[in-house]
Amino acid sequence: MRKLKKRVKFIIGIIALCICAASYFNTETTVTDNGDFEYLQDGLRVHFVDVGQADCTLIEMPDGTTMLIDAGNNDDGDDVVSYLKMCGIEKVDILIGTHPHEDHIGGLDDVINSFEIGAVYMPKVQSNTKTFRDVLNSVKQNDLTVKTAKSGVNIISDEEFNVKFVAPVSDRYEELNNYSAVVHLKYKNKAFLFTGDAEILSENEITGDISADVLKIGHHGSSTSTGKEFFNRVNPDYVFIPCGAENDYGHPHKETLKLLNSAGVKVYRADTDGTVIFETDGENLRVVE
Ligand SMILES: [Zn+2]
Repeated sequence: MRKLKKRVKFIIGIIALCICAASYFNTETTVTDNGDFEYLQDGLRVHFVDVGQADCTLIEMPDGTTMLIDAGNNDDGDDVVSYLKMCGIEKVDILIGTHPHEDHIGGLDDVINSFEIGAVYMPKVQSNTKTFRDVLNSVKQNDLTVKTAKSGVNIISDEEFNVKFVAPVSDRYEELNNYSAVVHLKYKNKAFLFTGDAEILSENEITGDISADVLKIGHHGSSTSTGKEFFNRVNPDYVFIPCGAENDYGHPHKETLKLLNSAGVKVYRADTDGTVIFETDGENLRVVE
């Protein structure tokens, strides 16, 4: 029953987005709340896809390149594939599995088997699960290889557009979460930080500029992530929390919400807001309503 409800909710979400997208793409210029937002031909769109208590982010870049960071649980695979198809995507140029937990890489095999894939990045760590083996098998069957996601690796670097890994910094961790690939994306004057499930230990190893307008919060809003010092360095205006309604972990934790609240950031959550899409021309940033 819960599953059915979830599916119905997802379908309603897709219909709403289709209507939204249809009206949207017909207009070349859109006016925002502040009245001066010009879109859309060379804009960047970041979709935080609602996969409940899991993680999935689709990024459509100004030059048409696409990137997918995680693909939800095994059960979300079909929905993620449908969402990408609904967005008109035929090729995923950059596919990132942040770390080998099911709620992040579960749907990756479905994505790999359904789209042309450019490059696949994952951190250098193994997991003895069927989910992990399924991902590696789909990589192999599609004649792909896995590139290592680690701090210092640039994914895209040009004058106006930069995407790079800022974590993991170390080679070994006790917690699988800390192997999470953390991605910093900058387009002109706007930046995003996608943190997987990286915990405070990993956050504190990250060096360099990680300031971002939008933060995909670590580990579903758990208190084991988003340390104060790290959060202050990111200094976001917006935060997205990928958490499922009434999830078993009590995510997001009250300590995290308190931190966000005291900083006065605008918080979006998968359990209350569903899929949330940000768009920016590199100067202005807004949420597609
Ligand atoms: Zn997770």
